[in-house]
Amino acid sequence: MAKGRIEINEDHCKGCSLCVIACPQNVIELATDRVNAKGYYPAMLVDPEGNCTGCAICAVACPDVCITVYRQVPVKASSAAAAL
Ligand code: SF4
Ligand code: SF4
Repeated sequence: MAKGRIEINEDHCKGCSLCVIACPQNVIELATDRVNAKGYYPAMLVDPEGNCTGCAICAVACPDVCITVYRQVPVKASSAAAAL
């Protein structure tokens, strides 16, 4: 399965939880130990086992475009050989 990670622009997040609900891997939570400049508990990636797949469903769900998704792309052996 593909591996991914996300970065969340905490200062733009309004803590609406739409990304938390949307994530099929359940790896997004709202912070409980801090608020952002707007006074909201921001969303954050909590993924100690690396279960994020980079599916980008969270980014599509976010109404404030706070989430950037990175997905690991496997390098094919033939491509690697061609690059040598
Ligand atoms: S990219 Fe997919 S798996 Fe990763 S945090 Fe977003 S919704 Fe969840
Ligand atoms: S959907 Fe966007 S604004 Fe809402 S909690 Fe997630 S990152 Fe924050």
